[in-house]
Amino acid sequence: MAFRALVVEKDEDGKTHGAVQTLSEDRLPAGDVTVAVEYSTVNYKDGLCLGPGGGLVRSYPHVPGIDFAGTVEASDDPRYSPGDKVVLTGWRVGEVHWGGYAEKARVKADWLVPLPGGLTTRAAMAVGTAGFTAMLAVMALEDHGLTPSNGEVLVTGAAGGVGSVATAILAHLGYEVAAVTGRPEQEGYLKGLGAARIVAREELAETVKRPLEAETWAGCVDAVGGAMLARVLGQMKYGASVAAVGLAGGAALPATVIPFLLRGVNLLGIDSVMQPYDARVRAWERIARDLPMEKLEAMVEPAGLADLPGLGAAILKGQVRGRVVVDVR
Ligand code: NDP
Repeated sequence: MAFRALVVEKDEDGKTHGAVQTLSEDRLPAGDVTVAVEYSTVNYKDGLCLGPGGGLVRSYPHVPGIDFAGTVEASDDPRYSPGDKVVLTGWRVGEVHWGGYAEKARVKADWLVPLPGGLTTRAAMAVGTAGFTAMLAVMALEDHGLTPSNGEVLVTGAAGGVGSVATAILAHLGYEVAAVTGRPEQEGYLKGLGAARIVAREELAETVKRPLEAETWAGCVDAVGGAMLARVLGQMKYGASVAAVGLAGGAALPATVIPFLLRGVNLLGIDSVMQPYDARVRAWERIARDLPMEKLEAMVEPAGLADLPGLGAAILKGQVRGRVVVDVR
């Protein structure tokens, strides 16, 4: 059976361009489960893979889409049967392997997670890799002792995907959330997700001048990295933790070790791609429990396959708000 996909090709001059194509099923890569994809989404990494590749894509033609949710169509693995609802994030799907920007995907059974009870395939992709990672970050902060009574929690890149979901989950759990954004016009949106106050990006944009500033934050989910993360480290309360998720503001970390040595601050690395299965199931169960569905719906911008090239460029410029849900059918 033929299926539609957003295929990225590379010209002889090295330029990439994506377009919707109809492919025959024998073009699908090897794998033990074939999924009828219903929804995918647009994450920062998708922006890279839709465009010049960012060093992530190995070969062309390529079908991007680092996550998807859908229904199993055929399976050679006893864990999955036709009709099962599944979700996939990570494992370099959409980068090295063909991904979710297609009506069909063929993957390893090990990479799939059964859709958690209480979530639709659409809601699972409103969460997507960005939201799944936000949950991992919140869980890591909790594991390091964060509770609502510890004080204000900072979320950077708050109007983006990771930041929006982190804000909504933390607020729902009773935390006082300070949301950092470079888009002041998103104040109403962020307060609607539960942010108690807005911190202007410029306030944290300057590079570190003093290694320690006033102890302000009880925890932080950081989607930005770079100079902002360096600055935030010096503002953490004694013994508090920062979950480092992203690099929307840069990969360099122009910091000193003083916050670690004098305030016992912890920098927790968060990786969603290679998370083991049990941790994935735990995170998805927590999402189904701790992320209010009406808040999730407020983040959603609907899209189709043909919209993807434009959305990929927009997310790389920090212009996408919340979560794009791509109905691939
Ligand atoms: P988005 O583009 O949706 O969000 C990023 C947000 O960061 C933007 O919306 C903007 O928020 C802010 N931002 C953008 N550029 C800058 C800048 N130069 N300086 C300061 N803030 C900036 O992306 P995602 O939420 O999907 O991903 C966020 C980051 O997390 C990315 O770097 C991504 O690669 C990473 N990530 C990592 C994962 C992991 O496994 N570790 C998994 C998923 C994502 P605002 O306008 O509110 O300021």
